[in-house]
Amino acid sequence: MIEKLSGPTGPGTDYLEYRIKCGKCGEIVTVKVFPERDLNPTYEDSGPAYVLKKEVMDSKCFRMISVEISYDSSRREIRREISGGTFETELSGKK
Ligand SMILES: [Zn+2]
Repeated sequence: MIEKLSGPTGPGTDYLEYRIKCGKCGEIVTVKVFPERDLNPTYEDSGPAYVLKKEVMDSKCFRMISVEISYDSSRREIRREISGGTFETELSGKK
């Protein structure tokens, strides 16, 4: 994973929060996504501009949940996929 982005980035306070429910035990896991840091550009001419892939483990049965979310060039979500669990109501925004 590339950690370094071109130029200094400010103290990014914008993040997205996803609540994921384990498909096995129902435990809710909250995942914070920092678009500045976590989104990977695809460099494709068509389709999503950014892709986020995350492996989430819940704290109850320790099952792995794979999440893949696609974003357009404005970092708006256009597609989401999950295996091993489901998305709960999404909270997004700043603090
Ligand atoms: Zn679980």
